[in-house]
Amino acid sequence: MALEIVRTIVGLRARIAEWRVAGDTVGLVPTMGALHRGHASLVELSRRHCRRTVATLFVNPKQFGPREDFARYPRTEDNDRDVLAAAGADLVFAPPTDVVYPTGFATRVDVSGIGDILEGQVRPGFFAGVATVVAKLLLQALPDRAFFGEKDYQQLLVIRRLVKDLDIPVAIEGGPTIRDRDGLALSSRNAYLSAAERAQAPALHAALVRVATRFKDGVDPDVAGAEAKTELFATGFAFVDYLDVRDAETLAAIQPGHCPARVLGAARLGTTRLIDNVAV
Ligand code: AMP
Repeated sequence: MALEIVRTIVGLRARIAEWRVAGDTVGLVPTMGALHRGHASLVELSRRHCRRTVATLFVNPKQFGPREDFARYPRTEDNDRDVLAAAGADLVFAPPTDVVYPTGFATRVDVSGIGDILEGQVRPGFFAGVATVVAKLLLQALPDRAFFGEKDYQQLLVIRRLVKDLDIPVAIEGGPTIRDRDGLALSSRNAYLSAAERAQAPALHAALVRVATRFKDGVDPDVAGAEAKTELFATGFAFVDYLDVRDAETLAAIQPGHCPARVLGAARLGTTRLIDNVAV
């Protein structure tokens, strides 16, 4: 039997209410679809913590800039449903845009500070779009826990800040980044890469790992980052948005030897933008 799909908030809440009556715990896995093993791993993580798992499929227009890829973002709902069924989800919530943002919608959730740097600086409005839709999804479903990938490390921190600041009673859990064998982090946007670009793409992860090692060896983070940028350009990356070592909790700039640290990078291969990060 195909995995059940609901498209309205009333339908979502009705199903979750039944589970609550039965005493079941509920996990939520928000996604934009075009699912891969990274998303499936979050569903599996949710199943380990919660009796029931809801996955959401919604390509959120508010987190795309005017010159970004909203129109061409891959939409593969039938396949996504199969991936979610195989991973063991109990329900799919796939609302149309006007259910999430009906006429007159006017609220914007903006996490300042941690949402303004790195990705937030390169993609103005991106984290406000993410925070607005995640706040809505959390309040629509009111799960016990919600699961997000460390692949989008800054996003995970922004969401932790958001639920703390707005007293949303949901535990936020991070799941490890799932990679291809050559190190490239799985991403729905990898589908945009040509064969030649796909061969170059693992250089981003390799550069982050090298910076982490150099930093652990006591090298100045700016020096290690600058070396790695040069390597990425040599591999064929057209532009490096940032490649920085930061405090792992605040993402503030740090001195050599600081702990805990995280190396975060974003770079473009042709027209495709890749982001990744590694722990130090
Ligand atoms: P997206 O559909 O790209 O918005 O991602 C939905 C969720 O899946 C987010 O929490 C992402 O961080 C997570 N995710 C995306 N790619 C990966 C990956 N390679 N490994 C683990 N989680 C991922």
